[in-house]
Amino acid sequence: MDIQHAIEELKKNFKIYDDKNSLIIHSTGSIDRIRAEPYFVLYPENTMDIQKIVGTAEKYKIPLIIRGGGSSPTGAVVPSNGGIVVNMKRMNNVAVSIENGYVICEPGITLKELNEILKKYNFFFPPDPSSVSVATVGGAIAENSGGMRCARYGTVKDWVLKIEAVLPDGEITYFGEETYKNRAGYNILDLIIGSEGTLCVVTRAWLKIMPLPRKVVRIAAFFKNIDDAALSVLNIRESGINPLVLEYADKSGIETANKIRNFNYPAAEGGLVITDIDSYSDECNMSDSLKNVYKIFEDNNAVYITDTDSEMEINNIMEVRRIAFTSPGILYKNFIDGDIVVPLSNIKELLIRLNNLRKKYKNVFLSICGHVGDGNLHPQIGYDEKYKDSAFKEVLEINRIAIDLNGTISGEHGIGKIKTELLLEQFHRRNMDINYELMKSIKKLFDPDDILNPGNFGL
Ligand SMILES: Cc1cc2nc3c(=O)[nH]c(=O)nc-3n(C[C@H](O)[C@H](O)[C@H](O)COP(=O)(O)OP(=O)(O)OC[C@H]3O[C@@H](n4cnc5c(N)ncnc54)[C@H](O)[C@@H]3O)c2cc1C
Repeated sequence: MDIQHAIEELKKNFKIYDDKNSLIIHSTGSIDRIRAEPYFVLYPENTMDIQKIVGTAEKYKIPLIIRGGGSSPTGAVVPSNGGIVVNMKRMNNVAVSIENGYVICEPGITLKELNEILKKYNFFFPPDPSSVSVATVGGAIAENSGGMRCARYGTVKDWVLKIEAVLPDGEITYFGEETYKNRAGYNILDLIIGSEGTLCVVTRAWLKIMPLPRKVVRIAAFFKNIDDAALSVLNIRESGINPLVLEYADKSGIETANKIRNFNYPAAEGGLVITDIDSYSDECNMSDSLKNVYKIFEDNNAVYITDTDSEMEINNIMEVRRIAFTSPGILYKNFIDGDIVVPLSNIKELLIRLNNLRKKYKNVFLSICGHVGDGNLHPQIGYDEKYKDSAFKEVLEINRIAIDLNGTISGEHGIGKIKTELLLEQFHRRNMDINYELMKSIKKLFDPDDILNPGNFGL
């Protein structure tokens, strides 16, 4: 590694950001529990810039950590092995093609900015992580992000047609085609999606888009018992209603939201289920679905149900769910992210078992929320330093519950630099050890000198 020569070479084309502020900002993600400062930070403006940066990094064997919005909670953007952080925010151009049903964008645009542009055309990009205002297209592709609308629309991988990428040897290439269907060769595109910046740098993406529904109604139901909340989710699924959104936040999340936003939602013991019903038709045929959802919530003993199509109230209700996610970080200095998924039929059992952990780990704060409609929960932990051991024991137990229930330790946040042991345990329990050996070989094939984001997935 020859950092001085690399700096001299990069200085010819780029401003080097090595001031203390830049190093601190780029030492961690938004809610990460690990940090390490990079050597310096670069802000490329186009694909050729990326090619130059990758070329220099390869020549002097210096790690590159590609960074979008930095909202990954798994240490994925932390330069733990040293290296240069490449901040993609300045690559944010977009071209909308309604006739092709796609948008071509650079990776640095946030999903919120993208959807604001698409709204002018009455279209939208469905994947909707609750971090939309910071999460970038590049980060969402590298993490195969999910979010609020996954119950209907799946994750980012279901919406990417093609990407332009710079490989670790500096070659600019493409994966996928700009067609809605493509069966030419192995599906390498899907290998890149979710690869956490370890295989290539994504410099452009062709993303499928959808027309916006004409009307959306949000229904929020508050429950006395967690079992009833869980059962209502299953009943909605079984009834054939195809909700746009199906989310959960527990009592502690509601209480925190009420406190910091001055809301007045009922802090019911069993928490809150949120669902959205939408319609594409002019004569809104939503009343049947609405009645069915109400009936399901009532049959499951909801203590309070409300529905709204007002934009402000729609946002306020989802704000409760968003705050539930970050509440341990708001209330405690130490925060550990959870991101488990189980098959839908096990969601009730999962909620009950997680809730029971509160009695066992009395000194650790647990907030349970998430995308319950696709089986993905975020059991988030907050703790005081003196209870660190208990907190980590609880985290282990939470992830093992997911594995026991035929689930997985990550639905959308990935492995990064903090969940490798859990990944290996899951592979081992499922008789899938060969998967990790294949991952190592694939990494070697793409990036033999280990330049791109070393340490993610423990690779
Ligand atoms: C409050 C909060 C709520 C969240 N809610 C959700 C949610 O609902 N659903 C969800 O899925 N996630 C969620 N997340 C996690 C996170 O926001 C997503 O993973 C997000 O898509 C990451 O985007 P980013 O631009 O911030 O990526 P970053 O954090 O900057 O990077 C993430 C990974 O992508 C790589 N990367 C970034 N850009 C590129 C590129 N151009 N080429 C190659 N690799 C690249 C990085 O190296 C890193 O490995 C949440 C996070 C927070 C803090």
